[in-house]
Amino acid sequence: MTAHLIDGKRISRELEADLAAQVTAIRQGGGRSPTLAVILVGDEPASAVYVKNKRLACERVGFIYEHVALPATIGEDELLAEVRRLNADPAVHGFIVQLPLPKGIDERRVIEAIDPRKDVDGFHPYNLGLLTVGLPGLAPATPSGIMQLLAHEGISVAGQEAVVIGRSAIVGRPLSLMLTAADATVTLCHSRTRDLGSVVRRGDLVVAAVGRPGLVTADMIKPGATVIDVGTNRLADGRLVGDVDFEAVSRVAGAITPVPGGVGPMTIHALLQNTLRAYRAQSAPLAVSGQAQS
Ligand code: NAP
Repeated sequence: MTAHLIDGKRISRELEADLAAQVTAIRQGGGRSPTLAVILVGDEPASAVYVKNKRLACERVGFIYEHVALPATIGEDELLAEVRRLNADPAVHGFIVQLPLPKGIDERRVIEAIDPRKDVDGFHPYNLGLLTVGLPGLAPATPSGIMQLLAHEGISVAGQEAVVIGRSAIVGRPLSLMLTAADATVTLCHSRTRDLGSVVRRGDLVVAAVGRPGLVTADMIKPGATVIDVGTNRLADGRLVGDVDFEAVSRVAGAITPVPGGVGPMTIHALLQNTLRAYRAQSAPLAVSGQAQS
């Protein structure tokens, strides 16, 4: 068997057309474009590439992109002041602080300082709490992108066994909630899971979000399963690979995402969607008061 390739890059570009049309309608109605700001601390090359891809995506759909570059030597208090400035700026509808942050800065504190209404990465505990109880909010971008990828491919998870490997607060854990809400039976694995292979082999859907090249091998995969590879690992020779042994697993799985070009572009797409959602939520009270005046 050769697995169907789930082309996240192509799918994200298709979905961008809808966002671009919504921005055009906003502009034609006299509105300002949604604005995404990104705080980048330091000059870590991988983060610079991720941020550039976010800027390019904003440009493709007609968002305004604001780049806030801060030196790696910045102190936590100065960074928190920058977060508060963006919280208060009505021209910025959503923003993210690109992770990881330099040593000595408490990432949790920084994320918790972001106004949840502008938290378009969906990392704030308030937004994660809304997801937990099943209320609408700004959901974390990577799991959101994965759910849209599955929906786009017509893969229904209802009643399926889904195995998620990795329990981070930004990927594995929220994805397990989304899959549960979509009626999958979810098993969430981590570094202490006993006999990972036998657990993963139960999965009709397997999602790897660990950060270890080659962790998921072909013998762990049930024939025909859908395999979503979130891992992003840079090898010594410069190649970017996921957590899944792509060549071998492709011969067993029914469908599989590549790295790069799978989950990454969908994460950016979900970030743009969240920005538009934040824009609309922040614009809504104005529209209502405008109607009241007319
Ligand atoms: P993280 O916070 O480092 O969490 C890694 C998770 O993997 C932890 O839950 C850890 O278990 C688990 N783990 C570690 N070794 C394991 C093993 N041998 N077997 C089973 N589980 C194991 O990672 P993250 O932030 O979620 O990111 C995971 C990967 O996804 C990274 O490669 C990251 O670069 C990538 N990523 C990609 C995107 C994208 O858009 N494509 C977005 C976000 C992240 P414990 O909890 O027990 O420590």
